[in-house]
Amino acid sequence: MQIKPSCPICNSHDIGVFNGRENARCVNCGALERTRFMFLLLNRMGILHPDTSVLHFAPEPGMFRRLSQLCSSYTPMDYNVDQYDKWSPEVRFVDLCDVDGTVTGTYDLIIHNHVLEHVPCSVSSVVAKLKARLNPGGVMLFSIPTRAGVATSEDLDPSLTHEERHARFGQWDHMRLFGADDVIEILNGSEDNGAELVPAYDYISPKEREMALLPPAIERLSGHSIYKVAAAS
Ligand SMILES: [Zn+2]
Repeated sequence: MQIKPSCPICNSHDIGVFNGRENARCVNCGALERTRFMFLLLNRMGILHPDTSVLHFAPEPGMFRRLSQLCSSYTPMDYNVDQYDKWSPEVRFVDLCDVDGTVTGTYDLIIHNHVLEHVPCSVSSVVAKLKARLNPGGVMLFSIPTRAGVATSEDLDPSLTHEERHARFGQWDHMRLFGADDVIEILNGSEDNGAELVPAYDYISPKEREMALLPPAIERLSGHSIYKVAAAS
């Protein structure tokens, strides 16, 4: 019997079109390519245990449910908490430009998908402050929209209109457009955060990529790939 491709998070075989991309969004749990890839990585890296403490920014419903079940210490946070009222009122407020004022505790795992393009302050400073919240041996995994063949452009000027932000950075509330030419340097900054691309095929095979309906772009600097920052030793 032939095994059909499925969502690694909820096992649904129903993965549909999103933003014009085929096989993009799980119809059952809503997971996009990057979320499905991240969950595969979490499993293959052996990170998820009952005692793993997890901090999750901008939690996706499917991932939220699985991590809530798998890990006893799971903290979901977002800047816009109202959007979660329908399915999870316990998402807490975070301002990533004020990590020390809004995040308490330390964690074994910090995850976020397509969050850093929104923060209206230094990206490398945010990464450094989150890295400082990792327990020894801990790791932060995240994705960001990344355009090939260009350098990163950014404008934090609060007077920029939604239209200008959409034209320059791809969405009305984006502060920057990460470019593959220098994204690693931007993430590392003067803080020297040690950010790196996760080599997809160190953890999954091309066949497994196909079975989760993930695009080949997960293995290069792209909006589908995952970056990693490890705790300071
Ligand atoms: Zn799913």
